[in-house]
Amino acid sequence: MYQNFQQLKTGSNALQLDITESSSSNIKRHIDNEVTITVEHETRRKRKIPNSSSTVPDDLRKQKDRHGLCGLKNLGNTCFMNSAIQCLSNVSQLKNFFLSDYWHQMINHKNPLGTQGQVAQDYADLMSDMWLSNKNSITPKRLKTSVANFAEIFTGYSQQDAHEFMHFLLDALHEDLKDDTNDSSPISKLFYGRTISIITCVSKKRHVEQVEDLFTYLPLTIPTEQPLTVQQCLTNLSAVQIASSNSEWFCSKCRKKRQSKKQMYLFDLPRVLILQIKRFNYGTQSTTKITKFVQYPLELNLTPFIIKGQNLQEMIYDLIAVCLHTGSLSGGHYFTYAKHERNDQWYCFNDSSVTLQQQDIINQNAYILLYKQR
Ligand SMILES: [Zn+2]
Repeated sequence: MYQNFQQLKTGSNALQLDITESSSSNIKRHIDNEVTITVEHETRRKRKIPNSSSTVPDDLRKQKDRHGLCGLKNLGNTCFMNSAIQCLSNVSQLKNFFLSDYWHQMINHKNPLGTQGQVAQDYADLMSDMWLSNKNSITPKRLKTSVANFAEIFTGYSQQDAHEFMHFLLDALHEDLKDDTNDSSPISKLFYGRTISIITCVSKKRHVEQVEDLFTYLPLTIPTEQPLTVQQCLTNLSAVQIASSNSEWFCSKCRKKRQSKKQMYLFDLPRVLILQIKRFNYGTQSTTKITKFVQYPLELNLTPFIIKGQNLQEMIYDLIAVCLHTGSLSGGHYFTYAKHERNDQWYCFNDSSVTLQQQDIINQNAYILLYKQR
C-alpha cells in the first residue's frame, strides 16, 4: 500500500491509484486525498511540461537574437515602406537568400535597369539587422534613400502606396540580381507567375489565339456582387470578357480588327503569390477608397483558376502576411500582420512596435495579401 503510494508520489503510474484497496476506510480516504492531490499535481505538471516547452518559441522577443521581430522606425509618413518591408521580410525564402552570402555573387552591375546593386546591398543589410542583431527596432534610412535615388516618387516624406513601394522594391531587386542569359533572378523565381489568355475572334471562323503574360502580383477588383471574397475576385478575374468596340483586337488570322472574347487563366503559379485588393481609385480630382470587407482564407486553393490540363496537382497556398491600411490614402496608416516562420504565430508589425497578434488576421482593412505555396 505504502509502496504504491510512494510510486504514485514519484509519478511512476498515477492510474494505479484506482485499483488501490484498503481495509480501513479512514486510511483509504486519507490516502485518496493525499493521492488525489498528488495526482492533480502530477497531471498539472505533466500537462505543463509540454505546454511550457511549446510556449518557449512564442517568446522569441526575449531571446538575444530577435529573429526578425524587429520594428522599423517611422521616418515621417514612411509606414507604407515599413509595412511593405515587413511583409517581404517574412517571406522566408527571400530573407534566407539575403542572409546568405550568395546574393553578393549574383549582383548584375551592368544592368542599366537595376541600381548596380545598391538597393540589393541596402536590403541585405536591413535583413541582417532585422534578423541577426539584437535590436527592438531599427531605422531603415539607407534603403529609403537608395530607393528614392532611383524612384523620384519615394523622395521626401509624403504618404505613398505600400503596394507601389513593394512592387518597386521587388523590381529593383530583380534587376540587381538578374542573370542576363535567361532573364531570371531569385525574385522572379519566387514571385513571378504567368497567366494565359484565350482570345477568340468573333468572326464566323472563330480564330483562337493564346497570349501569355507575366505577373508579379494579381490585382483584385472588389466585386459588386456577393460574396465579397478573394475567391470571387479571382473568379471575376478569369471570367469571359467581351472586348468593347473601341478596344477591338487585331486578329492575326483575319488580318483585321475584330471584336473578341477573352478568358484569362492562371498558367504558371509563383511560389509566393501577392494579391492586391484594389481599394484605391485614383481619379483625376481625388482618390477614393473602398472600405468593404473582402474575406480571404488562411488556406487558398488556386486549383480552380488554373487552365485545365496544365497542372493536375492541387495548388494550395497558406497566408503568410497581410498589409493593412486604415483611414484615407493621404491621412491613413499602414501596418502588417505576418506569420513567424519558427512558431507559426502571427505578429503585428506597426512601425517600431512588434506585438503578438492572436486574432482578426482576417481583417476588413487588408490591402495586400501574401500567400506561400505549400
Ligand atoms: Zn479572326
